Amino acid sequence: MVDFELTEEQLLLQKTAHEFAEKEMRPIALEYDKKGAIPWPVVQRAHDIGLDTAFLPEKYGGGGITSTLTHCVVNEELNWGCAGIATGLIGAGLAYLPIIHMGTDAQQERFLRRFTGKEAKLGALCLTEPDAGSDVKNLSTSAKRDGDEWVLNGTKRFITNGGIAELHVVFATTDRSLGYVGIRGFGVEKGNTGLRQGKVEDKMGVRASHTAEVILEDCRIPAENMLGGDDRTAFYGAMKTLESSRPLVAAGAVGIARAAYEYALDYSRKRHAFGSPIAKKQAIAFMLADMKTRIEAARLLTWRAAWMLDHGMPMNKEASMAKLMAADTAMDVTTDAVQILGGTGYMRDEPVEKWMRDAKVFQIWEGTSQIQRLVISREEIGEL
Ligand SMILES: Cc1cc2nc3c(=O)[nH]c(=O)nc-3n(C[C@H](O)[C@H](O)[C@H](O)COP(=O)(O)OP(=O)(O)OC[C@H]3O[C@@H](n4cnc5c(N)ncnc54)[C@H](O)[C@@H]3O)c2cc1C
Repeated sequence: MVDFELTEEQLLLQKTAHEFAEKEMRPIALEYDKKGAIPWPVVQRAHDIGLDTAFLPEKYGGGGITSTLTHCVVNEELNWGCAGIATGLIGAGLAYLPIIHMGTDAQQERFLRRFTGKEAKLGALCLTEPDAGSDVKNLSTSAKRDGDEWVLNGTKRFITNGGIAELHVVFATTDRSLGYVGIRGFGVEKGNTGLRQGKVEDKMGVRASHTAEVILEDCRIPAENMLGGDDRTAFYGAMKTLESSRPLVAAGAVGIARAAYEYALDYSRKRHAFGSPIAKKQAIAFMLADMKTRIEAARLLTWRAAWMLDHGMPMNKEASMAKLMAADTAMDVTTDAVQILGGTGYMRDEPVEKWMRDAKVFQIWEGTSQIQRLVISREEIGEL
């Protein structure tokens, strides 16, 4: 059965997230974009109302919501508010996901509890390296066993909340000859002197988030910090993490696109040229029609992928289709929004210019648009 209606709980969370986005994020979004800094008071207020921990298990102090579809609904609203601020909050979530997918009960208790205290804490997921981005299996950060400890060495690049996180989930290879199977996730807790922040990035967009290099030098962690313990298939938990986060990222892209569309629609009604509102010019009206249609299509693909995940169905291809469509839609819609605002849209006093910069990263992170096409085409074409 197909049902497009949100539940009471989803509508309530959508409203809460929207109000938070409108009252707390929008008013300071441009200021923090210019500063290139995390607005900590806003992150704390999101934490106070449980927006960042709503999707953590109840037994570890979270809100206990398990539905990815509900998470998508919330992410769309937060990214409508500001994709930069939302990145910090969602970046924290990216650290939870591998713990939930791969962690033993004891690891979940120890690591997830760190995020559910009074003070807001951010998490980091460290996968990308200078020589391993799209080609994740090529990562070279090593994990060597030494008695009761693992010793991590290597450099991670472009890490959201890198160096400032309460917990870094680091992916490293225990044995390169084993390929994927040798890659495991490790929890590195704050205060470990073997992990330090390297270069802090000065970014095009999502500037209210923190992105940095993470350097691991003889970083010693207890043996029990290897996620999943002795389970040798634990790497598939990492892939599951990325699969399940793709609809969430897609929902974020839909949120930016919607923000830009609404702004451009409003502007086009008010702005007059040649004696009438520009919304009355067919060139502009059709642009708006295409923007709206693509946003709705991207949201439907996103919700379907999330729904499939929630129903335990394989959804690798569908998650990629959602991420691809939503990211490309966000890029196109924000670019068109700048066009509709003309010169005004190009100026930094207006949010559409920021939204266009923010949208670009959605075609890059969590698997580039080319990688999503690779996943989709491989599944469609199959073995030849
Ligand atoms: C703001 C920001 C935050 C980030 N946060 C995190 C984070 O928290 N944790 C983390 O681990 N990573 C993070 N990343 C890294 C991000 O996931 C990578 O940038 C992304 O996976 C791409 O890797 P790369 O940059 O090395 O590009 P590359 O893999 O070098 O790709 C370069 C180009 O080649 C194309 N390409 C590569 N392989 C193929 C192929 N087989 N077929 C066709 N085209 C191909 C790509 O699509 C791209 O256009 C972040 C990145 C940014 C920009």
